Amino acid sequence: MTKEWNVLTMPSTPAELAGVEWNDVAGWYAQLTDAPLDRSSLDEWLAAWSRLEELLTEAASRAMIAYTLDTSDREKEAAHLRFSTEIMPKADEQSVRMARRLLDSGLTRHDLGTTLQRFRTASDIFREANVPLFAELEELGARYQRITGSMTAIWDGEELPLPRLQPFLKSRDRGIRERAFRLLAAPYMAERDAMAGLFDEMYRRRQQAAANAGFANFRDYIFPAKFRFDYTPADCERFHEAVEQTVVPAVGRALERRRERLGLASLRPWDLQVDPYAAPSRPFTTGTELASRALTAFERVDAALGARFRTMIDEGLLDLESRHNKAPGGYCDTLQFSGRPFIFMNAAGIPEDVMTLLHEAGHAFHAFEADRQPLIWQRHPGSEVAELASMSMELLASPYLAEAGFYSKVEAESAELEHLEDVLITLAHIASVDAFQTWIYTSGEGGDAAARDAAWLRIRQRFERGVDWTGLETERVSRWYRQLHIFLYPFYYIEYGIAQIGALQVWRNARRNQADAVRHYREALALGATRPLPELFEAARVRFTFDPAEIGALVSLVEERMESLRAGLPQAA
Ligand SMILES: [Zn+2]
Repeated sequence: MTKEWNVLTMPSTPAELAGVEWNDVAGWYAQLTDAPLDRSSLDEWLAAWSRLEELLTEAASRAMIAYTLDTSDREKEAAHLRFSTEIMPKADEQSVRMARRLLDSGLTRHDLGTTLQRFRTASDIFREANVPLFAELEELGARYQRITGSMTAIWDGEELPLPRLQPFLKSRDRGIRERAFRLLAAPYMAERDAMAGLFDEMYRRRQQAAANAGFANFRDYIFPAKFRFDYTPADCERFHEAVEQTVVPAVGRALERRRERLGLASLRPWDLQVDPYAAPSRPFTTGTELASRALTAFERVDAALGARFRTMIDEGLLDLESRHNKAPGGYCDTLQFSGRPFIFMNAAGIPEDVMTLLHEAGHAFHAFEADRQPLIWQRHPGSEVAELASMSMELLASPYLAEAGFYSKVEAESAELEHLEDVLITLAHIASVDAFQTWIYTSGEGGDAAARDAAWLRIRQRFERGVDWTGLETERVSRWYRQLHIFLYPFYYIEYGIAQIGALQVWRNARRNQADAVRHYREALALGATRPLPELFEAARVRFTFDPAEIGALVSLVEERMESLRAGLPQAA
């Protein structure tokens, strides 16, 4: 029995897939399996497979977005769960089969180099024995989220979820800041043994999965698993050293200025988030205002990017305001079939919301630009470049926040100063989290809870300067239990550091010639995933680097900018 190969038997829009059953989806994959795959049909077969993936992932995204916008709607919840727990996992299995079929065919195409490299690597490290281990890790991850998600603190007689305490760390009243800091750490200290036990379980399974795939440890496994083809564990260690030599002393100097400005004998960990220059400001009131002001800032960065953001406003691709029954957090998701991004936020009118929107908009611009790549696998290059897109936008748009109407001139400069200080502190934090995870999986002692806590303290001492932790050792240890990546997304972190080093170079370029810098930035994003990381960075006219001298030069530039901002801000009374 011969079946005619006809790509048109698939639905033509994601909307038609809203109520789809797995059997239908399985049928479309079966068509792809039955279709001839040879030199003459390769283009058509790839296009059909990519289109199926676009339709499916967009239908799943739409279901997820609808649910996160209204978590009280049972039907939306059911639709989202049907996609996320039933259809997509099965579809992923089918995708792996398609990738293997393509690899086995030996066929290739000039624009498929990076795509085939990923398919081949995923296939090489895949082990049937690891499937149940990763399923168990998912379940352990869910347990971590249940523990942390239910943590609360009593604040002024009211029981609050922990994120609600975060704003008090910015209070001008030091007593309030200290109280918030201690309450934020306390639940993690109370749950320490349970969470350490949970991590032991994760540690064992990860090391086992690595061994099953023929690796000495989970760190060595994660490099191919995360498609880190362009850097090595030694490069990461070089990054740690560069940060230790250049960023850590700069953070020390910035915190010394902060200490002086606040008029304190020493900086305690609860003194790091208060703005020493400007009173807390309200940069906007509604989501509509947030969007229209951000639009002005993006138009100043680049007319074409401004037009992209206007499209998002016009097409309803932003849902920014915090509302009853919305899911917490924020994200930017890509609708792969439509070639459109969607930004979800819970804005409450604070300065962090402005920075979050700039960041997510960077991801959105990436989605717009990369959509010109014909196949779905050619669009997302990995977090090193995705975060380059978003972190660059934070820096590129920052100079226009006063013009955009978010801030007065003084508030804007103070916000920029705070952002740059945060860039430095975060680089040091990133290095410590990566060094810690490296230690966990390579020292041989990572399965020992007490040794882990001791290693964390040792590593923090190496990367943290200028903060007085006297008498707060347990609080300091509890910090790593709060770093959800270590539990849920192991080794996901240095990507932020690599991206930030790139973003600082985009910013440096823009300070010389903004139009040029933004043009190259957009050209790099448009390449999607079709080039290795160093080439994508090169397209943005920045270097993919772990070099202490190059990183040091960027740190100096940040420090110079901070110094000139401080000079322009009103002096302490
Ligand atoms: Zn991001």
